[in-house]
Amino acid sequence: KSTRRPFSRSSRCRTIMPAWVIDKYGSNDVLRFTRNAAFPIIDYPNEVIVKVFAAGLNPLDVGMRGGYGAATMSMKRDPLNMKQSGSEFPLILGRDVSGVIMECGLDVKYFRERDEVWAAIPPWKQGSLAEFVVLSANEVSHKPKSLSHTEAAAIPYVATTAWSALVNTGGLSKDNCANKRILILGGSGGVGTFAIQMLKAWGAHVTVTCSQNAERFVRELGADHVVDYTAGPVEEPLSELDKFDLILDNVGGDTERWALSLLKPWSGSKYVTLVTPFLQNTDSLGVADGMMQTAATVATKALKHLVKGVHYRWGFFAPSGPALDEIRDMVDAGQIRAVVDETFSFSQVPQAFDKVEKGHARGKTVVEIS
Ligand code: NDP
Repeated sequence: KSTRRPFSRSSRCRTIMPAWVIDKYGSNDVLRFTRNAAFPIIDYPNEVIVKVFAAGLNPLDVGMRGGYGAATMSMKRDPLNMKQSGSEFPLILGRDVSGVIMECGLDVKYFRERDEVWAAIPPWKQGSLAEFVVLSANEVSHKPKSLSHTEAAAIPYVATTAWSALVNTGGLSKDNCANKRILILGGSGGVGTFAIQMLKAWGAHVTVTCSQNAERFVRELGADHVVDYTAGPVEEPLSELDKFDLILDNVGGDTERWALSLLKPWSGSKYVTLVTPFLQNTDSLGVADGMMQTAATVATKALKHLVKGVHYRWGFFAPSGPALDEIRDMVDAGQIRAVVDETFSFSQVPQAFDKVEKGHARGKTVVEIS
């Protein structure tokens, strides 16, 4: 039957597609392959449907498979709380996509069918472990010409997270990094390997913490100074170094107990952590109370550090086509390369989740869809 829709010119016949879905939260055995997942629909005139060539996985996918963030994601999907609990299933995971535009909504001007694109998919939307995905055009960007789809799918989610944390929250830009000393806690994973390259391209001095066996790897990406966190309390060698203008924390745990003392006081220096209790709070307390708790926690911490002359901030992923446009230009200029740790085929999605869940990433895990 025809599926003509009000916001698109298409009269496609397809209503189903292959995808990996989950029907409940749990461990890896909840992942189910189906040929009958619902084909995405253009519900708004600014949306595009992308045929997925490659999908990147992130630690968030493993968390979401187990129900992490479910309360906040449900609120984003259904703000008026009209639907029954469990209406998110069958849920498709996968936050990174590289592929080709297959269909454009009526208001989409910047993209055409067959354009090669990449995007980071907001976690409340259906993901990229499927043959097709629907996105808002402002979340999408033309993919770097110099990268394959597999390489391109290794970048968007970590890149837009690093961009949001370093540029929007941290106040860094290509014009103000030249004399800055930046510390990246956790340099060898997805966010770290991207952040090192972006900050080096902008002229910053970059110090990185990682395991001893990743030292060469992060140096090849441009890190100026590397500290092995497995050799003992990492704060000791770090405290002997000159103070930093900004710290990006990809590790969390007890790092904020000591990390803010490594910043230059009274000079606008910032500590930005990506490891926050926000989704955990909303999962355990409900969205309203969880948000209140989160606001109270971050305000208290920010104030505590402000009186010592340093800024304490939380960083979050933010989907952004325009940020990806700038990142694409850096990639095509040879300033940033994709760091693919391991590649899996579409039939190996559970193995790809296993890999991400085991940790010790050296860059990104990517699933080739077609
Ligand atoms: P990855 O799993 O790709 O990388 C984590 C890296 O950290 C691994 O290379 C690991 O290697 C290394 N590592 C582990 N422990 C330490 C340590 N104590 N010191 C230094 N390095 C360490 O994760 P991502 O880069 O994708 O994400 C990083 C963190 O940011 C995650 O906690 C993620 O959930 C969070 N995040 C938050 C977002 C937000 O919106 N707030 C968005 C994106 C990510 P090894 O164990 O071998 O040392």
